[in-house]
Amino acid sequence: MIRTAVSLAAAALLLAACAAPTATTSAAGASQLCWVEFSRGEVPGALGAAGATRAVWPNTASGLLVRHPRGDVLIDAGWSANALAEMAELSPQKRPMAERVIGGLQWRLSAPEALRRAGHAPQSLAWILPTHTHYDHMGGAADLAPTPVLVAPAERAYLQAQLRTPDVVAASNIRAVSPRLRDIAFSARPYLGFDSSFDLHGDGSVVVVPLPGHTPRSVGVFVTLGTRRVFHIGDAAYVSEAIERGLPKSAQLRAFADDDGPATDAAVRRLAAFHREHPEIAIVPAHDREAWQALFGDAPRCIAANSGG
Ligand SMILES: [Zn+2]
Repeated sequence: MIRTAVSLAAAALLLAACAAPTATTSAAGASQLCWVEFSRGEVPGALGAAGATRAVWPNTASGLLVRHPRGDVLIDAGWSANALAEMAELSPQKRPMAERVIGGLQWRLSAPEALRRAGHAPQSLAWILPTHTHYDHMGGAADLAPTPVLVAPAERAYLQAQLRTPDVVAASNIRAVSPRLRDIAFSARPYLGFDSSFDLHGDGSVVVVPLPGHTPRSVGVFVTLGTRRVFHIGDAAYVSEAIERGLPKSAQLRAFADDDGPATDAAVRRLAAFHREHPEIAIVPAHDREAWQALFGDAPRCIAANSGG
């Protein structure tokens, strides 16, 4: 497994203290980091990466909720409540796989339901920050109006192209969310080896970096909570093993979901190198449930900044 910033034993102590979210503090920086789970399932391990060794890939669609005195942000919003019907809007080539994925889930919650289950009032979010705009990441934003949704301009152009030629994002979801889309304004300020970045709160607690390939402007998000740092990489890689061993996507899921295969391969190589340079930073692929468990123990859970780490 990719190393987390703290030992599992230390994490267990922290989690025992903060299984239920508490009020945000007035201290600067993020006060809590929470695992909000939208769905769970089991997928053949070979789909996780080309050359993956696990027989089964424990899969999740999850959101990372960062509670912050200057505004709470939900990184990835899961599925729309209308997700099943949305599958019928995808291209005929993509629909069977999408329906197989959603049909194989053990359970699925809407974004408001999952947030409430994690002890968070959906209407209190300041922002939604999808790592990219696919239905299992931006979909739930449709049910979280009027919260603004932060995406890079190139990702908005991708959505416009999807409207003209429906492929893997449902038009009804794009139309529901479009009025609330707000641009991420990347600056030329480097961050941990990335050439540009966007600091959401201006205090380094949530820093967005470009991670293109899976979609034209997929992003990765660094979250700093006290002394620990997490790097949410969206779908740049599906499982931690891909980062540890530099494994490319499986052919099947690459064909299904990657906008630019070579760019996605480059992103994986970059992340593998990043992991070697920064083994203390917990890298979290959006769909690898074991990586989320290593960080939080179980869902829904919150980690507090003032609990050590
Ligand atoms: Zn995904």
